[in-house]
Amino acid sequence: MIKLEHVYKSFGKLEVLKDINLEVKQGEVVCVIGPSGSGKSTMLRCLNHLERITSGKVYIENEIADERLNDKDVLKISQEKVQQLCTELGMVFQRFNLFPHLTVLENVMIAPKIVRKQNQEEIKSIALDLLDMVGLADKKDEYPSRLSGGQQQRVAIARALAMRPKIMLFDEPTSALDPELVGEVLEVMKKLAHEGMTMIVVTHEMGFAKEVGTRVIFMDEGRIIEEGNPKDIFDNPKEDRTKSFLKKIL
Ligand code: ADP
Ligand code: MG
Repeated sequence: MIKLEHVYKSFGKLEVLKDINLEVKQGEVVCVIGPSGSGKSTMLRCLNHLERITSGKVYIENEIADERLNDKDVLKISQEKVQQLCTELGMVFQRFNLFPHLTVLENVMIAPKIVRKQNQEEIKSIALDLLDMVGLADKKDEYPSRLSGGQQQRVAIARALAMRPKIMLFDEPTSALDPELVGEVLEVMKKLAHEGMTMIVVTHEMGFAKEVGTRVIFMDEGRIIEEGNPKDIFDNPKEDRTKSFLKKIL
């Protein structure tokens, strides 16, 4: 579904991603862990063109989504193609960024309404199903400010799913939440994983990674230092950097 080949990303002189190679297959739930500043968010952002890579190749569903020899190299793919490939990816951020002036239902309907040429009733029915899936059907007419952080994040997940993505990217979806609200968001993510959604999840929630993660990736200073199945990484890390990181967060 996704492949990164020798991906580098710099911001000016700061090299943030260094030779990232990663392949994510259909149905995999890949959890990404690592210290703050290690490049986790940048890696996700490079997948959906929120950032351009400096060099390397990005594939989405076997098609080249970004390819560069160096930062002077122009984009060879058409904007249309980029947009089409990026709609295969849904993204959920730490901050939910719901539209405050739209109701919950309108928030979930807005992207397909603008982008897709489906009829309103169809879009609405899909949105209602998604709100049901995240357990918020009864909140459809509320405004975001009336919801808890956990509820807002669940709306954000429904909103991302409304575009029918094939892959979901989560960037620390629970780290801005009060501890008692984390569980309800993880439950929704588990449900998605069990439905077979392909997911890349930046998270330090070990319980989630152990229970639903098919693979854990540890990043440090812009590199993938170690990867493996969750049990091996958490219980038996090989690299010293992984060991010392885990010691800090556990
Ligand atoms: P993480 O998500 O692992 O905490 P990030 O990918 O957010 O790490 O950031 C990696 C590094 O890149 C950090 O040093 C950060 O300051 C830097 N960085 C991220 N985005 C930008 C940007 N738009 N401009 C300049 N530096 C950035
Ligand atoms: Mg980050």
